[in-house]
Amino acid sequence: MKIICIGRNYAEHARELNNPVPTAAPVVFMKPPSALLVNEKPFYYPDFTNDLHHELEIVLKICKNGKSVQPEFASGYYEEVGLGIDFTARDIQDELKKKGHPWEIAKGFDNSAVLGKFVPLEKVTNEGNIEFQLKKNGEVVQHGNTRDLLFTFDQLIVYVSKYFKLLQGDLIFTGTPAGVGPVQPGDLLEGFIFTKDGKTEQLLTCEVK
Ligand code: MG
Repeated sequence: MKIICIGRNYAEHARELNNPVPTAAPVVFMKPPSALLVNEKPFYYPDFTNDLHHELEIVLKICKNGKSVQPEFASGYYEEVGLGIDFTARDIQDELKKKGHPWEIAKGFDNSAVLGKFVPLEKVTNEGNIEFQLKKNGEVVQHGNTRDLLFTFDQLIVYVSKYFKLLQGDLIFTGTPAGVGPVQPGDLLEGFIFTKDGKTEQLLTCEVK
């Protein structure tokens, strides 16, 4: 199982961190399987950072194997979507970015990929779009809609599968909308997705210790 992550896939988020907005191709990085944190287990604030950020993202669960997937078949590779948090040690990432180095230690450390529950895609797609939000201690801090994606889910499948064979069970973190920010021990993070019938469903709970 691999965890493929997409960076800067919402223009407003790219701008809030003063990053260029990608146009030609998505920004791709990975987290190792040991980064996964599931079953609403608490997240322990790591001692190597002083600026840990939440990034709420829609996660695709790959449902069959595929290599060099063609655009017309891309939508057949995911049937369920979930929410995840791409925890990021922003201070470390900024240092690495300055040096032009890979981001792995800022993004792929243990428990940095929080994964909530999944729902069938058709339950949450409204005219092709999915709306989602993150609350921190009860207050909305991120609110996204996939109509603002720079690269659609299908485009990501096509692009990623050119380089990495997709295997059933792989996860794709599809990028975070604007509103990323720091978390502190004691914070409660809750991720919600909007269903087709106008309800919100909580898919993710993460307590920071
Ligand atoms: Mg991210």
